[in-house]
Amino acid sequence: MRFPLGSAVRMGAHIAKNKLFPKPEWQQDPTPVNGVGTPFPILNGGPAKPTNGSAKPHPMLKQRFPLVLMLEPLHACNLTCTGCGRIREYEDTITERISLEKCLAAVDECGAPVVSICGGEPMMYPEIAELVEGTLARNRHIYLCTNGMFIPSQLHKFKPDPHFFFNVHLDGMKETHDMAVEREGVFEEAVEGIRVAKAAGHMVCTNTTVYRETDMREIEELFAYLQQFDVDGHMLSPAYGYSAVDDRELFLTREEIHEKFRDVDKLFSRFKLNATPTYVDFLKGNRDLPCTAWGNPTYNVRGWKGPCYLITDAHWDRFEDLMSQTPWQNYGHGNDERCENCMVHCGYEPSAALGVNARLGDSLRMIRWALS
Ligand code: SF4
Ligand code: SF4
Repeated sequence: MRFPLGSAVRMGAHIAKNKLFPKPEWQQDPTPVNGVGTPFPILNGGPAKPTNGSAKPHPMLKQRFPLVLMLEPLHACNLTCTGCGRIREYEDTITERISLEKCLAAVDECGAPVVSICGGEPMMYPEIAELVEGTLARNRHIYLCTNGMFIPSQLHKFKPDPHFFFNVHLDGMKETHDMAVEREGVFEEAVEGIRVAKAAGHMVCTNTTVYRETDMREIEELFAYLQQFDVDGHMLSPAYGYSAVDDRELFLTREEIHEKFRDVDKLFSRFKLNATPTYVDFLKGNRDLPCTAWGNPTYNVRGWKGPCYLITDAHWDRFEDLMSQTPWQNYGHGNDERCENCMVHCGYEPSAALGVNARLGDSLRMIRWALS
């Protein structure tokens, strides 16, 4: 992710502090307790395998701390997108929501410098403006992940702030996006949301999921179309095959992801992409990264979701328990069959940001990218 200078400095200080003084409780490798382990066969049990050909796991795999909190105050949504795991997995609790007080307590408890408020549709959360205000007051950088449809009617509730971004979900141009969200007219409403938010002085970025059917030339067309609104950046991530989503044909294998992202440098040269150069290398298949899912913990109506944003083996009441009782070494590519084709940003962007498997020149590329 790309940040304004103030947030980048805060993130750098957070990383340096946690690298220098890692919390001992978060670096243990517990064995799963009864009923809190993967129901799937572990392909390679034991410590996480190194992914860089060296004999030992990378030291950063034993320096765990959070970078981005994924906060889901509710799972209700006005849409039923084809690839959405949330509205399916949390169908039983779809009418529940977390109190404002508990949301802010989770921000404090986690301590991550970036908070991604997602869901469900977070603009349907009645205290969304208070949640944004309270999170900004805690010096956090916010991405409010939305389908964009409520922005025009609710914009008056928010004040522009360089640390607060609307992150609008768009999976393609009109025909493709409306098909993905299973409703006609959503693309136009989302674009109107972007237009009015930018006109009111807000920071706005977009978030695109790449499926098997995605034509990368259309993504280029989409980003070019959005230039007229002076959008502040684009996030791009391959889809993950949620077990709650029936349509397995939607999702990509690792090889297919490499193929889809092979020419992504073309997009990089034309548009502001909110993906680190190291993560992009990983998507192209030019380097390997291990999963560092603890970098992006998720809190929702059932608690702290472990191990990650995507798969659920447990919900913990306390953040401490998620960090200290999750058998992290059992997850990631080569360790759990559910992770085999996963290359999503919430598992691997932290690895890039933390410098896992770093190469000579990475720091310079990162600085150039951050300042560009
Ligand atoms: S807008 Fe987001 S939360 Fe709502 S159904 Fe679509 S992907 Fe799921
Ligand atoms: S590889 Fe993906 S699915 Fe597996 S733990 Fe990491 S983020 Fe979750």
